[in-house]
Amino acid sequence: MYVNATEKGGLTSYYDSHIHTEHSHDSVCSVDSMCEAAISCGLKGIAFTDHCETNKGISACLKVIKGLKSDVKRARDIFGDKLEISLGIELGQPHHDLSLSHELLCDGEIDFVIGSLHHARGQQDYYYIDYDHEDIDMIMYRYYDELMELVECGCYDVIGHINYQLRYMSAVARNRGDLSKYYRELGAILDVVAKNNKGIEINSSGLWRGIDLTLPPLEVIKMFRAVGGEIVTTGSDSHDASHVGAAIDSAVECLRDAGFERCAFFKQRKPIFKAI
Ligand SMILES: [Zn+2]
Ligand SMILES: [Zn+2]
Repeated sequence: MYVNATEKGGLTSYYDSHIHTEHSHDSVCSVDSMCEAAISCGLKGIAFTDHCETNKGISACLKVIKGLKSDVKRARDIFGDKLEISLGIELGQPHHDLSLSHELLCDGEIDFVIGSLHHARGQQDYYYIDYDHEDIDMIMYRYYDELMELVECGCYDVIGHINYQLRYMSAVARNRGDLSKYYRELGAILDVVAKNNKGIEINSSGLWRGIDLTLPPLEVIKMFRAVGGEIVTTGSDSHDASHVGAAIDSAVECLRDAGFERCAFFKQRKPIFKAI
């Protein structure tokens, strides 16, 4: 299913709305290098979404946003005639610190906010969990409880990589955590997202990281459509230039397979719909 988009060079009319740069703690790539990579693989637009983790505090988040703003402003001057560039953030655990989240979201220059759950309260990032030796059901139900809190708090435009933990599970653990067991919880969460006119993203990182699944997987995207969801963005979650646009064509294919005819790209916190 997965085609290396950056080598293919034919992503005209596609958007990558989830990209990290050196303003995130886990990337060393510049905004300019990401723009150059996006243009070379033919993307129509990109959104920079550097990490603002609420548990790191307000000054750390403001520092990220300040640095990104200045780089995006310059990048728009250089690349703006070839590439649509949005300034976003990936807001981690907004429901853990509502006053911080509201303060960040008052910033009128921010185009796009991905709300993500990287760890449950008092727990480590899902990246560090040893799924082969833990109770998967407990982890998943805790995740859905907190995801419901996140979607109800409203501090986001789209929910980031639903079922994030699948990215780090072994194949055996993924079978034990078969998503169909949790459709009731997932359905209730997606219903709140749709009713509040918010969206979800199709995160293609599972494809280019080799688990052969988008996050969330196709069945969940279909469920979002079934409850009346309309806003879906596509993003690679790239932390380096070589993965900008990676598997975005497959994410768009997945969106079509789920019955959608358009994808969203955010400007000034509003979705602009693009035919796919
Ligand atoms: Zn994330
Ligand atoms: Zn991310």
